[in-house]
Amino acid sequence: MPTIRQLPPSVVNKIAAGEVIERPGSVVKELMENALDAGATRVDVSIERGGNDLIRVADNGCGIEAEQLPLAVSSHATSKLTNAEDLFCVGTLGFRGEALASMAEVSRMTIRSRTRESLGGAEQEVHGGKASEVSPCGCPIGTTVEVRQLFFNTPVRRKFLKSVQTEFGHISEAFTRLALPHPQIHFTLQHNGRMVYDLPPSDDWLSRIAALLGRDLADHLLWVESVDEPVRLRGYVAHPSQSRSHSRMQYLFLNGRHIRDRALQHALAEAYRGILTVGRSPICCLSLSMPAEYVDVNVHPTKLEVRFQEGGRHYSQLLSTLRTRFLSSNLTHHIPEEPEPAAEAAGTSMDQRASDAKQELMSWVNSQLPTAGPNQVDLPPIPNSPAEEPHEPLKTHQLPPDWPLGNVASVSPVQQEPSTAPPSKPSDPSTYIAPNENHSAALQVGNRYLVTGEQENLVIIDQHALHERILYEQLRERVLAGKVESQRLLVPEPVELSAQETGLLLDQQPLLAELGIEIEAFGESTVLVSRYPAMLKNLTPREIVHEVVSLLLSGGKRPERRDLIDSILHSMSCKAAIKAGDKLGPEEISSLLAQRHLAQDAHHCPHGRPTTLVLSREQLDKHFKRI
Ligand code: ADP
Ligand code: MG
Repeated sequence: MPTIRQLPPSVVNKIAAGEVIERPGSVVKELMENALDAGATRVDVSIERGGNDLIRVADNGCGIEAEQLPLAVSSHATSKLTNAEDLFCVGTLGFRGEALASMAEVSRMTIRSRTRESLGGAEQEVHGGKASEVSPCGCPIGTTVEVRQLFFNTPVRRKFLKSVQTEFGHISEAFTRLALPHPQIHFTLQHNGRMVYDLPPSDDWLSRIAALLGRDLADHLLWVESVDEPVRLRGYVAHPSQSRSHSRMQYLFLNGRHIRDRALQHALAEAYRGILTVGRSPICCLSLSMPAEYVDVNVHPTKLEVRFQEGGRHYSQLLSTLRTRFLSSNLTHHIPEEPEPAAEAAGTSMDQRASDAKQELMSWVNSQLPTAGPNQVDLPPIPNSPAEEPHEPLKTHQLPPDWPLGNVASVSPVQQEPSTAPPSKPSDPSTYIAPNENHSAALQVGNRYLVTGEQENLVIIDQHALHERILYEQLRERVLAGKVESQRLLVPEPVELSAQETGLLLDQQPLLAELGIEIEAFGESTVLVSRYPAMLKNLTPREIVHEVVSLLLSGGKRPERRDLIDSILHSMSCKAAIKAGDKLGPEEISSLLAQRHLAQDAHHCPHGRPTTLVLSREQLDKHFKRI
């Protein structure tokens, strides 16, 4: 029979520690919360090596009296609750009295504190849960907690820690979540002796948002506000031109506490429905305030999730506030389009660069086609836009006399002489190539579809989807063969990101180098792009970086090298391909159809949409009641 035993306190504490202290970022969160609860007006956070070596949080709050220090670091000791009722109207960030004890259990912790009333400070050390005597020390009013060698006695936890950059990314995120809703408090964050954020106190929330999330984003925010007594909602939502592929930039604060709430996030997505492209997530910084008894914050170990008494009501309030706001603003003109810094610097327009890139891609594709023989097809440049390189629209009466695809004549309004049927019909469509480069082998309909015949089938092709597929396959081959030419930027381009995004990106430096993208750290929340692939030059370095970051953040797990390459190539071939609406000349149609047979999967675009619709002769015969 198994014997039931009471676990020794050290084991209990280690289990509890696992719930609250998951990684260095959790220590930062708990210590900063304590500082805010202590009424600090300044909080300084210093980190060494992503929190592996040191986490120090110093505040100028009320301090702890010397004789209270041993209690503060022992479990379930708090000054924030006195009875069970208090639990249902929590006005402080902490209340469980577990944080200090938990982190002291799994690290070497030193706490120094001094209250306003006392002349000197007091210090205590706790190493792996073993507390020293309290000793006097000199220190300013307030509290400083230092946590060294986190998880030194729990190797399994330590093993799960990620790279310094990634861990610092989490720390920076924890810092952001607390510094964002408290602009009136001075916060600093240093990493390895370098100042990452110095956020002076301010009455202006927007300047705090700009300092943490970037000026770019802050310039594209819309103010929203509403009151449904006693609940107040206020804050900023981003213009739809600013979005992410993940929801991590949805900052929701409840009474100054950062929370995650599925229902509220759903309301947000609902408000943006039809304004944002499918798959993109809105960005917001929204603050809800309501009496503490309206909400239970004691449902999640780190208090990230809460339980509202009237969740449905807040959902409706958020949704209707945003909808009203969006209806009253002209979302297309309210905020100017983002400038294209790289294009401006180069003195060329975006269109010009896109067109250059297309020319380059096309000439490369051309060089990949069979170089000799009667079936050779010249690949003319694909126009960038109809206005730029005007082409006569294909008129049906321009059909060449040696129109090769006899069976399609039945859909053409042009009367065909029986003798104009092709001399020989290709039997295998995969080897079929338009026989005459000067003549089109298909009709273009609505500037987006190509209608042609193959053997006895009627074939309708989506010109954009097909071209996208062809470019994608050819570029992928080139990348996988390691033949990516990259160009060095004369002036490396800085791209602003959150510190977490920067960390993730820097972790992928080697893989990016393989793709011809060279980035380096430039401060904690900026990267410099110094080199990027010549074939990506219709995208700005900024677009490329955002593309890669989005991929790294989506899905949670580290993407495979192949996925990363694929996703970059998808967006690139999509941007470089001819568009639905582009008028094509006969030669362009010929070349596109010729390349179709070189693609491995010409039937689907890289996103999986079909490129081609095939109607068999039998289907046509049935339709026309011939059989
Ligand atoms: P909780 O915050 O849930 O009460 P903690 O373990 O984080 O639990 O802290 C225990 C107690 O130590 C707090 O209730 C508070 O009285 C005291 N304390 C912790 N950090 C500080 C600080 N920075 N300034 C003043 N008092 C603090
Ligand atoms: Mg606490």
